[in-house]
Amino acid sequence: MSFKPVKRVEAIVVGWGRVLYAGSNDIAKSVAGLLGGDIVDLNGATVLPGFIDSHIHLDELGLQLGMLDLRGVRSIRELKERLREFSRSVDTLWIIGFGWDQELFEERRWPTRWDLDEVVSNRPVILYRICMHVAVLNSRGLELASVSTIESPNVVRDDRGVPTGIVREDALNIVREKIEDSISVEDYKKILLRALNHLASQGVTTAGFVGCDPKVLKALTELWKERQLPIRVRVYLDFRKSWSFIDIARDVGLRSGFGDEYLKIVGVKLYADGSLGARTAWLSKPYSDDPSTSGYPATDPRDLRAAARKIHESGLQLAVHGIGDKAIDVILDIYQELPNAKAYRHRIEHASVLREDQIDRMARLGVAASVQPNFVISDWWALQRLGEERIRWLYPFKTMIEKGIAVGIGTDSPVEPANPWQTVYAAVTRGKYENVKHYKYTESQRLAVEEVLHHYTYGSAYILHEEENLGTLEPGKLADFIIVDRDPLKTDEKELKNIKVLATYVGGKHIWSKH
Ligand code: ZN
Repeated sequence: MSFKPVKRVEAIVVGWGRVLYAGSNDIAKSVAGLLGGDIVDLNGATVLPGFIDSHIHLDELGLQLGMLDLRGVRSIRELKERLREFSRSVDTLWIIGFGWDQELFEERRWPTRWDLDEVVSNRPVILYRICMHVAVLNSRGLELASVSTIESPNVVRDDRGVPTGIVREDALNIVREKIEDSISVEDYKKILLRALNHLASQGVTTAGFVGCDPKVLKALTELWKERQLPIRVRVYLDFRKSWSFIDIARDVGLRSGFGDEYLKIVGVKLYADGSLGARTAWLSKPYSDDPSTSGYPATDPRDLRAAARKIHESGLQLAVHGIGDKAIDVILDIYQELPNAKAYRHRIEHASVLREDQIDRMARLGVAASVQPNFVISDWWALQRLGEERIRWLYPFKTMIEKGIAVGIGTDSPVEPANPWQTVYAAVTRGKYENVKHYKYTESQRLAVEEVLHHYTYGSAYILHEEENLGTLEPGKLADFIIVDRDPLKTDEKELKNIKVLATYVGGKHIWSKH
């Protein structure tokens, strides 16, 4: 993967959705005169290739963007008022909210289904508590999620044994799945559009959708057919709900690259382990703050190997979630066995705790990394989990790049904000200004602004197998670019997160601008 520094241009000539020329105003005029095409005069503004978020959950982001924010609400009465007003604006079946805290309520009690029924009775409502481990549903919601059939003490019941509407933990996980199942394709289209329009406003012109189940794919393909996709989507299928789809994909020859410039199927998402926060990421040695566990595999390694082989044989790219170094060992063992694996650029998602020998091995095997720099700051507690010796292995972006690993950048949104400038800031500063404890151990892994921009555009394009089409503004490539309010290369590092996108273009088409 070669380094393509961002270059300064005055004007771009766009024709047939592609860049015909990017450079000086004078030459732009003669190119447009000779070849046709439209001149986009940048008037001295800073233009950059659009960001390519290589790891994002479009369905979950769209759901989150459509939620009622109940943080700071002081009473059940206020909660009801807010719900009543919000319910009028919701055009999907479920009304979803989050952020309430009964500790703040002047009524000094938990909200119930009957409170919510007074406001909305004909449509399902679920309102998550601030912690997201507890929620309250109205009667229609309880009914649609079949809560009465869930045998668990975490479905709270009154003296008569009737569910009060409060559902917690494992029972809430079941409810969440039921809700997903009850969302129609029509509603998913609205949810996806919400996410895609939000990304356009953030300067993201291609989304690497890592984990798309068959129903959500149906919604996406309908939007695509109706030419409604504002930005480009690259899909990694998630077969967890129906493993038989792997065989179907292989039987029909659904290979990487199937689709067009707006929507393409690239590969399949699999999971090797969990998260550092929950101590479910799989480490080769026990957690420093809990020696009784080293985490564990999310998928039995034998099943992971069998699935990976089938997907590889189908001609699809693998994107395997691997956070702990033991999980990454397992993934690399699997990748090493696959014939001609280099050409597939199989990915490791997150690659959070990465030993030096693993960096060398990834480079040697041609394995790509999909990283999310925001985690460097939001995992501020990582030193406790890993201890002083291993903390140096945390998100070693600089070494990965120096050793020649193909690195693409993403956000894992809605886990982290989708705003690319927040991500650029995190990759450059690594928690320096947030007094993150591991900063001093991993300071040498800071990236320069031009490095982050390169890996957030060309780098992400490369790991999506799209470097011929996307990621730079060279003639012949798709004309995806953004105009920003200042030059990031001349911006103080503390201010990087405040850079604003002024306009977004996809295929030369102006799709968003700041008013
Ligand atoms: Zn993710």
